[in-house]
Formats: sequence, structure tokens, C-alpha cells
Amino acid sequence: MGDHDMESISMQDATTHDGRKVPPGGTLGVFGGGQLGRMFGIAARRLGYRFAVFSDDKDGPASHVADHAVCAAYDDEEAIASFVRGVDAVTFEFENVPAIAGEIASKYVPVRPAGSLLHTVQNRQREKDGLTGLGLPVAEYWPVRNEGECRAAAAALPGGGVLKTASFGYDGKGQKRIASGMELEGAWESLGKAPCVLEALVPFVEEISVVAARGQDGAIAVYEPFSNHHENHILDVTMCPRVLGPETQGEVDRIARRALEGFDVVGVLCIELFLLADGSILVNEIAPRPHNSGHLTVDSHVTCQFQNQVRAVAGLPLGSTERIGRPAAMANLLGDLWADGEPNWAAALAMPGVWLHLYGKAEARKGRKMGHITAVGDTPEEAASRARAARAALVDRS
Ligand code: AMP
Repeated sequence: MGDHDMESISMQDATTHDGRKVPPGGTLGVFGGGQLGRMFGIAARRLGYRFAVFSDDKDGPASHVADHAVCAAYDDEEAIASFVRGVDAVTFEFENVPAIAGEIASKYVPVRPAGSLLHTVQNRQREKDGLTGLGLPVAEYWPVRNEGECRAAAAALPGGGVLKTASFGYDGKGQKRIASGMELEGAWESLGKAPCVLEALVPFVEEISVVAARGQDGAIAVYEPFSNHHENHILDVTMCPRVLGPETQGEVDRIARRALEGFDVVGVLCIELFLLADGSILVNEIAPRPHNSGHLTVDSHVTCQFQNQVRAVAGLPLGSTERIGRPAAMANLLGDLWADGEPNWAAALAMPGVWLHLYGKAEARKGRKMGHITAVGDTPEEAASRARAARAALVDRS
């Protein structure tokens, strides 16, 4: 445990954390109190770690399974310093934790992945510049931060496009689709003229994702790709395996490895990808943490994405990313399912080959991720229809 005096620690000391390992029995901390933190905590406990949460939400899903939970603002420097003095290493469960939290934490303990990666992904412009800087393929994009850039982007856009706010966008929030450059100015106005990035519309045939981990020793482990289906911009169903042609699979692996190494990730990274009709791939966005599309690994893979995050953060060897057996699928459970009262859990649990995961959130709101169902089947499609059927059974009042 670090019980250092803040003033006595210089930034230089932060680098001496580089090789530090945290054996089971130590305490792992997470910034963020949501379901990703909760599942990280459960995985940490399976390996005998203690688990601490720092969040601005008093009753978040992660705090329910924590040995120690701190509720304070993410820019409360004193609270952050006090929190990290009680842990041996720390990670993040969502991207929008203010950079200051990582900076303070890194004075005391290893922060994995490093806070600088959060800084990159907190802004779409920086993220895309980072990806292209590594030679990774993304859709054509233009900054829209002032009137001049807006005019230039409108003139350059070849066809349709998607205007996205540079910061704090997720699940399709802060986005406007436009049919041509002519509509750009109006779209930008409707987003409050916030700094934005305009992307060319990608004629993708499918959205897939790849989740991969990189250990402290530089070892890399990549999960098989997942096929993702969205509803209203929110992930609805994931299936695996998504067997790709050898060239496309090779490109997915190359992208995952290049991103992990190029961004110097120690931890788990998800890369959301667009698959085009000719088998080529474009990167949509990256998330330097476990991802909703990787939740099925908890039930279907040798080492789940959360345990690999634990291993990376603690400096342990990564675990195998192989699937254990049958194809698998996941269906998200949104708060909408609670509209007519408590879902019928027994109906779903009575179905074979189905697992139910709930995040313990007290209030079910429309569009809020409350849990998920995973299922296995003889094919990915069969697993998906089983997961969907179990979800439908939750609200079947007949
Ligand atoms: P994002 O928040 O960037 O992941 O975008 C949410 C969803 O919008 C994606 O999952 C896609 O379905 C769609 N989308 C985002 N960017 C583009 C694009 N450049 N072209 C076509 N569809 C897009």
C-alpha cells in the first residue's frame, strides 16, 4: 500500500511504477462506478484481490461489490490522493474521467492504461489523428471548430457525412447525419457549434469489434472478432465467432496489435470497426477498457475481458482469449424492459443455455443499460436467437 506523502513524490517517481507488479491479495482501484467497474471488481475478487472504487455516484453498480468505495468529484484532488494511497494499482472503467485524476494517481501508483491515452480518446479529433498517425485506416474526416473549418469541410465532403461532437459523445449522442455538405452548417448549429469532427458516411455492411489486451511485459492477446447489431445507436446484440476471410482477419489482427503497441496500452482495448463490402476495414473508434461487445467472454471464453484487464493492471501474465466451446451471443437489457413492471426473471432463467447478468441499478430508465443475457448455441445465429428469446420472455405477459 502506498502511504506516501504527496509533496515528497515527484513526477519522475511516476515512471518508477513501470515494472511494479501487484500479486493477489493486493488492492486494485478503479475510477468509475458503472457496470464495467463492477465486472472488473468481480474478476479481481476471483483472483483474490481487494477492490476499491472511486466514483461520483454514491450507489453505482461497482460500489456494490467493492471492499471500499469513495464518492467524490473526479476533480477533488484531495479525495483522489487519499483514494490512491489505499490501492496498489488503478485503472478506469470509462473514458471521460478528467485527466487530472490519472495525473494525481500516477504520482502514487501505476495507472494502467496510462492517463495520456484517456486524454487522446476524450476527443475525437485527437483520437482520429492518433489512429491515422499509427497508419490505421479511418473514414475521411475534417475538423469543424470554427466558421472557416465548417465551410472547408462542407466543400470537401464527397457525399453524405456524420457530424460528431469532439467530446463526450457516446451511443450516438452528439451526432447528426447529413446528406451533403449543404446541410453541414445547420447540423453544426444544432450541436451548439461545439467543436466537432465531420466524418464521411461509411457504406459499411456490418459493424464488428475486436477486443484485445496487452500485458505489462508487452505480450498481446486478441479475442476473435464479434459481430454487433445496434438499435437506436445502442449495442443490442453481439455474436461470435464472426469468421472472416483470412485477409480481413489478418487486417483486424494487425489493427489490434498496432493500436495496442502504438498507444502503449497496458490493459484492455476495444476497437469498433466497420466492415465494407470488399472485405476492407475502417476503424470507427477505440475504447481503452473492456467493452459491451466483450461481455459474452465472461461465459464463453477461457479468460474473460475483465480478468485480462485485472491481469494487465496487476502485471500478471495474460490469459488465453480462446472460446471454450460453442458459439455465443449477448443481448443487452435496457431500462425499457421495466416499463410494465419487474421483468419475469424466472421465464428467462428457465431457458437452457442462457445466463442472466444484472448490474444492480436501482432505477430503470429508458435506454439505460441494466444488464445483459448471454447464450450459447450450435451457431452464432442460434445463440443470438436464444438470447433474444430469453429477453423477450422477460416481458411476455401472456
Ligand atoms: P459512434 O458513437 O461514433 O460509435 O457512432 C454510433 C453509430 O453511428 C455507429 O455504431 C454507426 O452505426 C454509426 N456511424 C458512426 N459513424 C459513422 C460513419 N462515419 N458512417 C456511417 N455510420 C456511422
